[in-house]
Amino acid sequence: MTSDHDFTGVQPPVVGEEAEWFDHCREERLMIQRCASCGRHQFPPRSVCIECLEEEPEWVEAAGTGTVFTYTVQHREPPGFADQAPYAIAIIELSEGPRMLSRVTGKPDDVEIGMEVEVAWATAAPELQVPVFVPTGAADAG
Ligand code: ZN
Repeated sequence: MTSDHDFTGVQPPVVGEEAEWFDHCREERLMIQRCASCGRHQFPPRSVCIECLEEEPEWVEAAGTGTVFTYTVQHREPPGFADQAPYAIAIIELSEGPRMLSRVTGKPDDVEIGMEVEVAWATAAPELQVPVFVPTGAADAG
């Protein structure tokens, strides 16, 4: 599947709990972990709850909504990201609480701290779907 959000990039190393997370991404499901003991949500995935150390937190699908916690605009293109700048790199605070490093697609000038966003999916490499974020409501239009 291709979308307007696709970009080329550097393939990340996929190890440990992250391998399962990327498997869910290929199905365009934004998964985070939830502790069955204390209820805390967490991301990135880990083998234990970072609050109470309970083992094997369960996978749950995030709502895919959140807000821009902070962001920066990349003006220079690092190796592997040709013809993409400028673009906004943002920390997204998911509705469930965890924060996630991602991109807000579209014009960087339109990005603001606190703006509401929702997940969209980009193909960054063959077999590599990654979540990016768009202003709420924009995903349906594009
Ligand atoms: Zn816990």
